[in-house]
Amino acid sequence: MSDPFHQRPTRIDVDLDAFAHNHAAIRARVGVPVMGIVKANGYGHGLVPMAGALERQGVEQIGVAFVEEGIALRNAGIRTPILVLGGIFGPQVAQYLDHDLEITVSSLDKLRQVEVAAEARGQRAVVHLKIDTGMERIGVHSYSSAAFIEAAAASRWCEIKGVYSHLACADDPTSPMTHLQLECFLEACAHFERIGAPMPIRHLANSGGVLHFPETWLDMVRPGIILYGVLPDPASLGTIDLRPVMSLTSQVVYFKVIPEGATVSYGATWRSERQTRIVTVPIGYGDGWPRALSSTGEVLIRGRRYPVVGRVCMDQFMVDIGTDSAWNEDEVVLIGRQGGEAISAEEVAARIGTIPYELLVGLNERIPRHYQGKIGLHAAII
Ligand SMILES: *Cc1c(COP(=O)(O)O)cnc(C)c1O
Repeated sequence: MSDPFHQRPTRIDVDLDAFAHNHAAIRARVGVPVMGIVKANGYGHGLVPMAGALERQGVEQIGVAFVEEGIALRNAGIRTPILVLGGIFGPQVAQYLDHDLEITVSSLDKLRQVEVAAEARGQRAVVHLKIDTGMERIGVHSYSSAAFIEAAAASRWCEIKGVYSHLACADDPTSPMTHLQLECFLEACAHFERIGAPMPIRHLANSGGVLHFPETWLDMVRPGIILYGVLPDPASLGTIDLRPVMSLTSQVVYFKVIPEGATVSYGATWRSERQTRIVTVPIGYGDGWPRALSSTGEVLIRGRRYPVVGRVCMDQFMVDIGTDSAWNEDEVVLIGRQGGEAISAEEVAARIGTIPYELLVGLNERIPRHYQGKIGLHAAII
């Protein structure tokens, strides 16, 4: 606690009880195993702590984007099966095998690369085949996946644990795209039956699929953002009881009165229309608090909403509290609740025309994370 970093007035609090609640609510709703997604620093909440919490709750599988993330989890002692969702980069294949990470195989070429590496080590690779049903990102097109599936099924060095695809529009409950993708995916999977190969675990649903398309749940679901209690898109509906996991707060570090006509911050883009009270908050775009919130964002102080005025700087921004009062060290809520008011990640993202994913993962390591909840390392700080 004497670490000056952790005394910083700006902090992220992660509510591991809310996280456990969301996981349990999703698991109960879908009734199939869950692959909890913790890529990009656990959506900004912390990679190892969130994977550790999932593991203690008995999650069946963990998903990350990059092999480095999987290695970090193994080095931290996480033992749950981990799938790396990203496409493999040939020179890294040996690292998957070294760290017992499951591999996404997304083309015939990559299947061969994995086989070569696995054979060289005399160790079978556990793989999930990636079928493209409309993202055009990675994966073999569903309409030409038969030969790919046959080659993988015949491989001595690959054990096919899963087969999966990714939904492009599942956060919009009205989009017809999801049903088309599901049809293509099931048609591709049917090839395992045709060739008499065992059916691997079929997984398709991201958060949007979990919320809106029960027919996509299949054998396993892959929720990310809803585990953290955040909806993927303004079009999404809260069909599951979710609780926000993250609060982002800071504290007032400066108070002043400015006269009518004074400008605030870089570029002098905001000018007071009357004498007013301004407080300074020690967080900025250097922490990942977006500069786009300049004269646009709002914060909570003493249970009331106040506007961000002038440009957000790298390390600070200013708030106009009008004729109200605030003291140094008063709590400033950027995401979270205070009194009867709340500011959600969804709200902040919508204000600046982005999605909550980008906002959350942008909050960087300069902000200390504090973990609370009985599922967690008790009141631990990491
Ligand atoms: C990120 C990701 C997910 C989780 O997406 P959410 O929208 O956060 O639920 C699932 N599957 C794949 C392949 C992903 O890359």
